[in-house]
Amino acid sequence: MISFYPGPSKVWDRLPVYMQDAWQSGMLSVNHRSPQFARLWQDLVLELHLKLHIPPDYQILPFSSATECWEVIAQSLLGPAGQSLHLYNGAFGEKWQEYTLRLTGAAQGYPFGLDQLPHPQQLPLQDSPLLALTHNETSNGTALPDAYMEQLRQAWPEVLIAADATSSMAALALPWHAADLWFASVQKGFGLPAGLALLICSPRAVAAAEKRGENSHYNSLLFSLENARKQQTTHTPNVLGLYLLWRSLKDRPPMAETDRLIRHRHRQWLQFWQEVGVFTPLCPAPVLQSPSVLALQGGKEAISSLKQAALERGFYLGNGYGRWKESSFRIANFPALTDSDIDQLQAFLREWCAARG
Ligand SMILES: *Cc1c(COP(=O)(O)O)cnc(C)c1O
Repeated sequence: MISFYPGPSKVWDRLPVYMQDAWQSGMLSVNHRSPQFARLWQDLVLELHLKLHIPPDYQILPFSSATECWEVIAQSLLGPAGQSLHLYNGAFGEKWQEYTLRLTGAAQGYPFGLDQLPHPQQLPLQDSPLLALTHNETSNGTALPDAYMEQLRQAWPEVLIAADATSSMAALALPWHAADLWFASVQKGFGLPAGLALLICSPRAVAAAEKRGENSHYNSLLFSLENARKQQTTHTPNVLGLYLLWRSLKDRPPMAETDRLIRHRHRQWLQFWQEVGVFTPLCPAPVLQSPSVLALQGGKEAISSLKQAALERGFYLGNGYGRWKESSFRIANFPALTDSDIDQLQAFLREWCAARG
C-alpha cells in the first residue's frame, strides 16, 4: 500500500533503518536532562537550520502537535482578551480561529475564497497584535504565495505573524522572514510518524513571549524557550521522533533542491489531470494552488468509486475535508514519495479515467 494521504502521510523508505539505529544507540532510554539528550537536540537544531535554511536567529522548539502550537500561541502570546485576526479559506485555519476564540474570547475570523486573496492593507489589524494564517491549507489544497506573505509583512511590520505550515514545511522553501512564528507537525512534509511538532520563533516572537511572561501553563512558550537554551525540554519529549527527524534530515538534500522537485512534480500533476480529464483542481486560481497538496474536484459518485478502486490496487488517496468532503479528494505531493510511487499511481489513474470514458 502506498499512501498518498496528505497527513498522516507516507514515511521515508529508510525509516526502518533509522528506527533500528535509534534502538541500538541507546537513545530511547536516555533522560531528557542528560548530556546525551542535549547532544541530540543540538545536532538536530543544527541540521534544521542547515537543511531548511531557517534563519540563525530564529529559535526552534519541540511540541507534540500543530494543534498544540495553536494553543501555545493563544495562551502565551495572547492570553484572556488578547486580540488576534485569523485569515483563512479552509477548515484548518477556521478551527485555529475557533479554538483561539475559546481561550481568549477575542479571536476574529477573516474568511476569504478559493480564488482571491484579501488585500493586505484592508485587513482590520489596527487593534490586533497577532495575525494568524494557514500557509498551506491542507483541507482544500491552497497555499499563500511567497509574494503575498512578503506583502503582509511589509503592510504590518508591528504585528506578530503566525503561520501554520504543517503541510508545507520540509516540502517547500519557506519565506521565513515574512512571519514570526512558524509551526508544523512532522507527519506531513517531513515524512515521519506523528507525535512531534516544531515551533519556530523569530527574535520578535521570543521578545513578545518574554514581555508577556505567561507562566501558568506547563507548556508555556516562556518555559519552552528557557529549556531550549539549556538543550532541554519542559516535558519528557518524543525522543524517537526527534531522533528520526535528525536522521532523516541528514539524508535529505538542501531545501532549495526539494522545493524545485516538489514544484516540478506539481506542474507535472496539473498537466496529467489536464490530459486525463474527469477531475479538475478544486482551486480555480493557479497562484493559490498548493504545490504540496493537490485537491481535485469531480462528481461524488466518481470520487467514491475512484478511491475504492485505488485502494484495491494499493493506493491510498486522501478524502476531501470539511466542506469539500464528498466533492473532492486529495493527493499528497510530499518529498517522501518517490518518482516510482507517483508513476505507479498515475498509470493506474490513467487507466481508470480512460475506462470511464
Ligand atoms: C494536519 C494539520 C494540522 C493538525 O496537525 P496535528 O499534528 O494533528 O495537530 C493543523 N494544521 C494544518 C494546516 C494541518 O494540515
